[in-house]
Amino acid sequence: MKDGFLDTGRALTTAADFVAEGLAEAAEAVALDAVAAEFKLRMTPAMRGAVRAAGDPVAAQFVPDVQELQVRPEEMADPIGDEAHKAAPGLTHRYPDRVILHTTHSCEVYCRFCFRREVVGEDGPLPAADLDAALDYIAATPAIWEVILTGGDPMTLSPRRLRAIMDRLSAIPHVDVVRLHTRVPVVAPEKVTEALVAAITGRPATYVVVHTNHAQELTDGARAALARIAGAGIPLLSQSVLLRGINDSVAALEDLFRSLIRNRVTPYYLHHCDLAKGTSHFRTTIAEGQALMAALRGRLSGICLPTYVLDIPGGHGKVPIGPGYLVPDGSGWQVTDWQGRVHRYDDPAR
Ligand code: SF4
Repeated sequence: MKDGFLDTGRALTTAADFVAEGLAEAAEAVALDAVAAEFKLRMTPAMRGAVRAAGDPVAAQFVPDVQELQVRPEEMADPIGDEAHKAAPGLTHRYPDRVILHTTHSCEVYCRFCFRREVVGEDGPLPAADLDAALDYIAATPAIWEVILTGGDPMTLSPRRLRAIMDRLSAIPHVDVVRLHTRVPVVAPEKVTEALVAAITGRPATYVVVHTNHAQELTDGARAALARIAGAGIPLLSQSVLLRGINDSVAALEDLFRSLIRNRVTPYYLHHCDLAKGTSHFRTTIAEGQALMAALRGRLSGICLPTYVLDIPGGHGKVPIGPGYLVPDGSGWQVTDWQGRVHRYDDPAR
């Protein structure tokens, strides 16, 4: 028993598991089975161990909720348009200089707000023939400078399989950067072994982008896993999702971003919550997100501040969504400072 919860050492994957752990109400078990029939469930022992009370910011990210059965008209199966930009099975080519390679559909956890919740959850890596076709496409497209490994979660792959993918990418001369987007160092830190870190080290330059949404996720194990990656000389960035009831406060975001910097992870993106099906209970308004970012700019060092971004629904790409500090004014600008005071700036005459 840990912090009032059972500690069976295995992941929770059914509604009954969450009820047995005291994380969900027994009276909701039937409805939660219906949620599980739509969207896969999984919470690792590390994340269960990070929960301090039912419904807290860690629990709310992984424990199924009957609100997920409410699908609003604007919500979509593929909110960021992966399918519209599919260049080959498992490969998304949205911007000229980079591709997303979906190495697997498996994750260590299934986040209740996931933007790919309709496709994640199947077991196993990308089939060999699809991987061959994707790598052939990358090799035949010299404009591709960066390959983003995501999924699912690429760090759920074995070190041997990851090393094989890295070796094949390193043989393509125009690929200079490989970026791994992963939740593993935080949600299953024991999987970040020396072998796994060695598998992603070398040419091309590797960046690890860690998905984390609340400082409470950064357990001792997570901090040690991040230190193993940073210690290998691999730059670490973070991506977080702005989530109602989880991190939509100045205090929660400040704590998260300061904690990341302390662990040598540079906050990179704060995503506005995508229009995935059954996720409206997590979504803030953009105005709320802008107000949080404006408040944080007055409190935090610039190295702690990610860019607040929206993936434009339909696959039109990611854009910064403010807040803005400049308003055109005649031949010059009105500029708002970190305390909200407005100043005049005129471009020097040319
Ligand atoms: S780890 Fe990422 S891809 Fe997997 S369920 Fe969570 S948000 Fe989705």
